[in-house]
Amino acid sequence: MKKLLCIALICLLLCGCSGTCMAEDTVFAMDTVMQLQVWAEDVGHADGALGAVRSLLRRLESTWSAVDADSPLSRYNRGEDPGWDQEETAFLLQLEALSEKTGGAFDPKLGSVSAAWGFYDDTHRVPSGDEIAAALAKTTWDVGAALKGHAGKLAVAELEKGKVICALLNLGGNVQTFGTKPDGSPWKIGIQSPDGNGTLGVLSVEGTMAVVTSGDYQRFFELDGKKYHHILNPETGYPADSGLRSVTVICEDGLLADVYSTALFVMGLEEATAFWRENGGFEAVFVLSDNSVLATREAKLSGCEFEVIGDEE
Ligand code: AMP
Ligand code: MG
Repeated sequence: MKKLLCIALICLLLCGCSGTCMAEDTVFAMDTVMQLQVWAEDVGHADGALGAVRSLLRRLESTWSAVDADSPLSRYNRGEDPGWDQEETAFLLQLEALSEKTGGAFDPKLGSVSAAWGFYDDTHRVPSGDEIAAALAKTTWDVGAALKGHAGKLAVAELEKGKVICALLNLGGNVQTFGTKPDGSPWKIGIQSPDGNGTLGVLSVEGTMAVVTSGDYQRFFELDGKKYHHILNPETGYPADSGLRSVTVICEDGLLADVYSTALFVMGLEEATAFWRENGGFEAVFVLSDNSVLATREAKLSGCEFEVIGDEE
């Protein structure tokens, strides 16, 4: 109740003379801090839509947690029947299809391998070759590379139901915009510098769009002076060593953006560029190991030097 009053107060305070009202909240979900901002014509609608997005995030988190042994996903991984509904079954089928489309670079069944590296319970360790081989053979679902994008996509559906003018959902590395900013200007989304030096560049985005980054700096540990990050090469079971530090994908479909950012990171620049040329439907920004930046033709990037990737090789 206290929280609701607080949100209503923030919203009231943020009501502008242009007739728009903003409600915002910070939530911790899916192991990350998320910042939600929703603009509507009045407090009630802004607050209602914010609440709907919050509930959606909680529902998805509890359903798809690979860490919580009681989650439906964990039960499914143990061979039990979690009673998936239509939306959940469709999600799993989509992930399988996207795994195939990305030539296996996106692999939603690397749960045992992530666990072997200690990424689930922060018991970080380097598994032996035998342990990795055993983990690769024991396929268990882990939808972590797609869940926040899926959440952004479903959140858009929630926002469409309410009388929402626009929204900015920062789902921890996954940004989902909705509609046009109240002042009519494009959304400005910063791309983080992999070295932790703040913002590397800024993307200009119009309307409803997902901007998703996968990077080796987002989750990693160091042992004996060597860095081990969380994005795994499904062929080897080791952290992908593709020459990339991060990949940002800009796409209307949040799920695709999330799946592709992970897959392109695993593929490396050459294969990723070929994938973009062949499939299209998205833009991408690549940060290489030497910190140089490349961006596909239509990515509206500013604030840094970069090479443009065109249609021709
Ligand atoms: P993201 O930050 O979206 O790139 O997702 C990374 C997360 O997805 C990791 O923390 C793992 O849980 C899982 N994962 C790691 N490697 C892969 C991969 N090659 N394909 C799909 N999921 C992966
Ligand atoms: Mg991803």
